[in-house]
Amino acid sequence: MNTSATPASFPVQFDACTIERLSTSGPRYTSYPTADRFTAGFRYGDFLEALANVKMRGPRGPLSLYVHIPFCDTVCYYCGCNKIVTRDRTKAAVYLSYLKQEIEMQGKLFAGMHQVDQLHFGGGTPTYLSDRQMDDLMAHLRRHFAFAPDHAGEYSIEIDPRTVSPERVQALRRQGFNRISLGVQDFDPDVQQAVNRIQPEEETLAVMQAARNAGFRSISIDLIYGLPKQTLETMKQTIAKVVAASPDRISLYNYAHMPHLFKPQRRISEDDLPSPQVKLDMLAMCIGLLTQAGYVYIGMDHFAKPDDDLAVAQRQGRLHRNFQGYSTHADADLVALGVSAISLVGNTYSQNEKTLDAYYEQLELGRLPVARGIRLNTDDLLRRHVIQQLMCNFELAVASLEQAYPIRFDQYFAKELAQLKALEADGLVSYDGAWLSVTKKGRLLIRNICMVFDRYLGMPREAQAQDAVQPLRFSRTI
Ligand code: SF4
Repeated sequence: MNTSATPASFPVQFDACTIERLSTSGPRYTSYPTADRFTAGFRYGDFLEALANVKMRGPRGPLSLYVHIPFCDTVCYYCGCNKIVTRDRTKAAVYLSYLKQEIEMQGKLFAGMHQVDQLHFGGGTPTYLSDRQMDDLMAHLRRHFAFAPDHAGEYSIEIDPRTVSPERVQALRRQGFNRISLGVQDFDPDVQQAVNRIQPEEETLAVMQAARNAGFRSISIDLIYGLPKQTLETMKQTIAKVVAASPDRISLYNYAHMPHLFKPQRRISEDDLPSPQVKLDMLAMCIGLLTQAGYVYIGMDHFAKPDDDLAVAQRQGRLHRNFQGYSTHADADLVALGVSAISLVGNTYSQNEKTLDAYYEQLELGRLPVARGIRLNTDDLLRRHVIQQLMCNFELAVASLEQAYPIRFDQYFAKELAQLKALEADGLVSYDGAWLSVTKKGRLLIRNICMVFDRYLGMPREAQAQDAVQPLRFSRTI
């Protein structure tokens, strides 16, 4: 596909020169401030204080839970997740005993305040747990948190189709999950071989069918472009198979090759990777094929059927972004459970200990395993609102921001608006004093646009909190 000449009906406009010139490393903004700004000075006591503030203001509405299961059977070479690859199942049993302790502690803290209407199991591989272990864990969660009924809640789980049978899918539905997300990445056998993830197509399709039969409300598929051995042709075939399988949502992630940060990626031969130009053509082709098939381009790697909740929420301007990507749930406090998981309570983010040993040690001492975090000030909240609006709706209404915060947009963001002029000249954004709008050409470079509003990015390291604990590890913006 010629990436510089895209039809008017396309949800994005490709301009290879601009993309090449502006592509840089940048955050995905599943949080603002980003996790590398969390500091070790924020501990358990700060989390409790944030919770006390939430309680003082009265219940803020429904609660979200995230449960992290870090284990995987085998390693996929492209993986950049926080996971533990082991076949020693006793490790999962030990982990569950501590996780249940954390659930109990958090359940007591939130008792009587909120009803859970959103639950997400991620990893790692949540289905690394046996059927019995999952039964037990879900029953434990229900003992310590009040859940909204099935029809009113979104209860989702990421599954690795290699680890589940159709019977297991039925069991997951019985256990209370009503949304399922399947890791596929690519249907091509050579690509699967090159990334050490052999997953026969029939197996994946059988799991999808089982999910439909079991009454899952939504099925989502994860794909990656830019993997070794991928070509335009193999990608075209994969997309055709995905469209035929008709999932409700599709995520299409850009493979970020960063072997200096992620050890498994060192097993990928750079010679097998598609060139940046081919990757761009692949992205253009995939967006074209998926939108022609009727999917709506939500933004930042995500597609959904027009009647899916995400597409409806975007049309109605109430889409949000959180650690799982896009969400229809606004402003819910998020309690994250498990090693390395990140919570959002009141105006704070807090992250659990990142190693099993440290996570277990804190729980043994009777403390929540909070290791780091950040308390957002008014400036952070304001900038988070701007970034959220641009990421989710591709536009920002100045009047609504000025109504929510005591500022004059033009004055407060004078420096940012001056910076935006260059992007405006490139045709990526427009600003008329009432609306800041991202153009079709700017949509693929949305991270660049949001980066203008990120106060921390240009900040010299010494001006940041002295105990900021995580190194920068951002992928390319496209
Ligand atoms: S991609 Fe998923 S299944 Fe593969 S190693 Fe990473 S977390 Fe595990």
